[in-house]
Amino acid sequence: MVPDPRFRDGHRVLVTGGAGFVGSHLVDRLLNRGCTVVAVDNFITGSKDNVAHLAEQPLFTLVEADVSEGLPDHHPAVRQRFDAIMHLASPASPTDFTTLPIEILRVGSLATLHLLDRAVADRARFVLASTSEAYGDPLVHPQPETYWGNVNPIGVRSVYDEAKRFSESATMAYHRYRRLDAGIVRIFNTYGPRMRPDDGRAVPTFISQALRGEPITVHGTGAQTRSICYVDDLVTGIVALLDSTETGPINCGTEHELSMRDLAELIVELVGSRSTIDLVSRSSDDPEMRRPDLALARAVLGFQPTVGPQDGLRRTIAYFRQRLS
Ligand code: NAD
Repeated sequence: MVPDPRFRDGHRVLVTGGAGFVGSHLVDRLLNRGCTVVAVDNFITGSKDNVAHLAEQPLFTLVEADVSEGLPDHHPAVRQRFDAIMHLASPASPTDFTTLPIEILRVGSLATLHLLDRAVADRARFVLASTSEAYGDPLVHPQPETYWGNVNPIGVRSVYDEAKRFSESATMAYHRYRRLDAGIVRIFNTYGPRMRPDDGRAVPTFISQALRGEPITVHGTGAQTRSICYVDDLVTGIVALLDSTETGPINCGTEHELSMRDLAELIVELVGSRSTIDLVSRSSDDPEMRRPDLALARAVLGFQPTVGPQDGLRRTIAYFRQRLS
């Protein structure tokens, strides 16, 4: 018999960034298992459209607020105790690093501290969405959680990398000194429906360009690699961490590593587009390679991604085809 999950019907879960790409899929999964979910989002990079299908769902509440200012306690759904707090709020695309740098620093520092205090007060489990960017431009490949990273602390990407590293540090301090039940997931590149077509990340950019028949803009030589994970697999990993008592940090993603040029060619083929591939200049500190070591996730969470790139990209292309038509 499969045991009941730790968080299920009757449990109240707060998801910051719940109207974002990953957050909205996580909200769906939690609601499907009967949790009451409160999503707090200021829509800076997310959208009400991502949760519009939940308008009639009685277990779901969407609250508009900037979590860097603290939680909007005047809202009755926010005032009630939470069993779990999941902090996903943060702009996350490379474009955001230059357009929203201060907002990223605030949500990765002030908001994290507010939420940690609330989690302690509620005796809630706290889950932090961290990132593979914590490894910076890694000198170890693939990246295990024991690797401390290679981050330029003052580079353009540092607003994101260092904010997440601060969030991890704060989470560990609250775990050690406030006895907080906390888990940190280091998310590697994830893609799927509900990404913004113009958010600057490779998959939505290439798909949008291919669908419009425009040249695919690949940075540098296109030899740099990423391991792309379909969002359903990532959410399975995040929820497994939520249900566990593991602290981590634990990597989550896939080991399917491919070069940006191969990704562009695959997308052109799957879209059936005539787009050419154009090499354009590369942003500074752009990591050369990225692949998670998933041994820990497998061992302690039983995590095993199941959606391959062809299948996941087909589902994502179908979403963008509809959205851009
Ligand atoms: P996203 O931009 O789609 O989602 C982030 C959400 O947070 C948006 O809805 C945004 O409006 C909201 N938000 C941002 N600042 C806020 C604030 N101050 N107050 C309230 N809401 C705020 O990005 P995503 O890809 O869904 O990322 C979700 C989380 O996962 C982020 O923390 C990100 O760092 C992490 N992550 C994502 C990936 C990935 O590949 N998608 C990789 C590594 C880490």
